[in-house]
Amino acid sequence: MKTILQNAILNNKAVDITIDNGLITNVEETNKNPLPQEAEVIDCSELAIFPGLCNMHSHAPMTLFRGLGDDQPLDIWLNQYIWPAEQKLNDELVYQGTLQACREMLATGTTAFNDMYFRLPAMAQAVKDSGIRAMLGYNIFGDGDEIENIKKEILNSQSSTINPRFSIAPHSVYTVSAKGLRRCADACVELHVPMHIHMNETLKEVDDCLREHGCRPWEYLDQLGILDQLGTNIIAAHTLHLSDNEIKLIGDHHITCVHCPNSNLKLGSGFRFPMLELIDAGARVTLGTDGSASSNNLDMIEVMKTAALLQKGWRGDPTVAPAEQILSLATLGHTVAPGQPACLVLVKLNSPIPTTIESSSHPTSNLIYATHGESVVMTLVDGKVVYKSANVK
Ligand SMILES: [Zn+2]
Repeated sequence: MKTILQNAILNNKAVDITIDNGLITNVEETNKNPLPQEAEVIDCSELAIFPGLCNMHSHAPMTLFRGLGDDQPLDIWLNQYIWPAEQKLNDELVYQGTLQACREMLATGTTAFNDMYFRLPAMAQAVKDSGIRAMLGYNIFGDGDEIENIKKEILNSQSSTINPRFSIAPHSVYTVSAKGLRRCADACVELHVPMHIHMNETLKEVDDCLREHGCRPWEYLDQLGILDQLGTNIIAAHTLHLSDNEIKLIGDHHITCVHCPNSNLKLGSGFRFPMLELIDAGARVTLGTDGSASSNNLDMIEVMKTAALLQKGWRGDPTVAPAEQILSLATLGHTVAPGQPACLVLVKLNSPIPTTIESSSHPTSNLIYATHGESVVMTLVDGKVVYKSANVK
């Protein structure tokens, strides 16, 4: 059956949006034509509609560790708090932590996320139970001795389900050996799955790489042949401390970078993310929260605001990173238009929405600068309502 989102605000216009079989099939001015009898109609009066947000870097089960080791440096936080706590996890805890994360993301406007963690079958079950879309990355450390088992697990899962999808996620160049990184890259090629990795998150990581390998982290991956091998199939979280040559390497290979501003700020990793330089060089820039232990929530609306403010702040230029551009990064360029997936978010904006549509309002600015995740009223994934706030009519 068709679903019609009636009288939603899209770019200052009141529209009816028809959804059929998971896709947007029509967007037209409200009440232009009589509604079809057989459709399910959802009243969206006074709600602004946006494409669903994509959280491109997370560790979903870390909702279990929210608040653990706060206000510590990254290496102490990992070594003394997070990694010991992760030793105590089991499938049931990972399932519950992931389910909590999926629900929080849906309730704050995220319709898809790209994750890396362990115990992926338990995570996959939580993804299915929540209705969100996801890509889950098998986290690898050291020499990646478990790669053959992981390959089998991915092949089995991929034959039985299209959501979640899977990737291979070597943690970083400082926790995975050259042998491990090469094994991961070969497995990505073999299985046609992306590689998801943390890159250039801290200055220490870059300095250690220079000392150990005589080059910077992206130059090291290049020397291992991984950039030519995988190119666009690399999703790199953070990419904060980059040389000009690294920006060129990333751009030439059209790699996806994930800016996680809240996590970077909280861990004191840095704030001069070279967003414009990466885009100019040819990279695809996206946004993410990182895990709940380092950004403490999974609110992508908050991430959009921080990302925009940081660019303006460190460059001393209020015209950079305008709201429309930031929304486009956070939605992977999706729009509310026929043919697009019906992954949609309805938001009660804080600023009053004018009833005469001609008068000026700025829904995207208001979304990013004036609201937060709690302003989300309804979330649809592939045309299905998967979240509705308690106070919805
Ligand atoms: Zn991370």
